Amino acid sequence: MGSLRIALEDRYCAHNYAPLPVVLSKGRGIWLWDEDGKRYMDMMSAYSAVSFGHSHPQLVQALTQQAGQLAVTSRAFYTDQLGRFLQLLCEMTGMDKALPMNSGTEAVETSLKAARKWAYKVKGVPDQQAQIIVCAGNFAGRSTTIVGFSSEAQYREGFGPFDGGFVTIPYGDAAALEAAITPHTAAFLVEPIQGEGGIIVPPDAYLAQCREICTRRNILLICDEVQTGLGRTGRLLACDHEGIRPDGLILGKALGGGLLPVSAFLARSEVMDVFTPGDHGSTFGGNPLAAAVGYAALSLLRDGELIAAAEQRGQRLREGLNALRHPAIRSVRGKGLLIGLELDPQVITARSFCERLMENGVLSKETHHTVVRFAPPLVITAEAIDAALRIIEHVFATLPTPHMEACT
Ligand SMILES: *Cc1c(COP(=O)(O)O)cnc(C)c1O
Repeated sequence: MGSLRIALEDRYCAHNYAPLPVVLSKGRGIWLWDEDGKRYMDMMSAYSAVSFGHSHPQLVQALTQQAGQLAVTSRAFYTDQLGRFLQLLCEMTGMDKALPMNSGTEAVETSLKAARKWAYKVKGVPDQQAQIIVCAGNFAGRSTTIVGFSSEAQYREGFGPFDGGFVTIPYGDAAALEAAITPHTAAFLVEPIQGEGGIIVPPDAYLAQCREICTRRNILLICDEVQTGLGRTGRLLACDHEGIRPDGLILGKALGGGLLPVSAFLARSEVMDVFTPGDHGSTFGGNPLAAAVGYAALSLLRDGELIAAAEQRGQRLREGLNALRHPAIRSVRGKGLLIGLELDPQVITARSFCERLMENGVLSKETHHTVVRFAPPLVITAEAIDAALRIIEHVFATLPTPHMEACT
């Protein structure tokens, strides 16, 4: 059956992904099942979108109840759901206002529009001249504007022309930010940890230094926390590790509770108030169904227990990976439950490592050719972490051993 489904999907679906050969049909918590009833541990959480686990009962309850009540109205009207969702979102993140969208890409696009308009209307940058500084290795989505500032050749190849207005600096280098700022700079867009870039953690105090520079030079600090936000790194926001508030904050993925695409751009009032009716919008953005699920998702994070668990389980997983001390491991990095295991591609590529994990009942996905991502749902238990570690250890044990002489 599995191979038929794969053939069907391959026949009719565009080949813009290269899925692992497993056909999933059910999910609960950290577990996924294929059509034959084989169970897998989800160590990837749909790129962090399923932080609460699959089909979390409270989220499914919020979804089904709201779906039967009122689902989509467009923002042509007020609803009884949107205000309370955005109030909770702003209160929890310490931001003034939010603009609801659906995908992370759309929320990033919203932030770029806000930054440019703020530069023209508030900062006084001459029309059409606004620049936004980004980092090499960034990932912010797949729209033509966003891939236009990607440093990844494949993301851009064949999709130009690109519209400019972006300046790229090295990631993790605050001095490079200082040097790149001009009177036309509107904003610095940065991920607190680069997720798709390979789980790259910048040096300590990097964000705090960027915060200081942006404030002093009057440019907006916009943090793309689509992947790092909402508890993933062991804090509500990855920015919280350094105790800073950005001027603009982008959330998505887990905001939809693993059930729907829900994203938002949040900002200080001075920034958000550049938008006037008709400037920007989205047919589905902020719909009552999304608002009800988003509210329920945030409610699960409110008491901080899940976030503290992410910190502890993440530490356990990182320590366990480090303890493997296998010569094919180049590094283990990350914060909380956003962990990258970098492999020596001479021994095994990240892709074939993921295939071997899959055969042994653990699902994850590579990012680039050398990094295996471990980002399980935040609800994972210590026992499940240990079980995953045993499987990872087993996969390492069955690898052909590299020639140690060559390394010494
Ligand atoms: C996934 C991601 C996005 C894009 O989100 P989509 O929902 O796929 O459009 C943007 N920024 C970061 C940091 C991401 O990880």
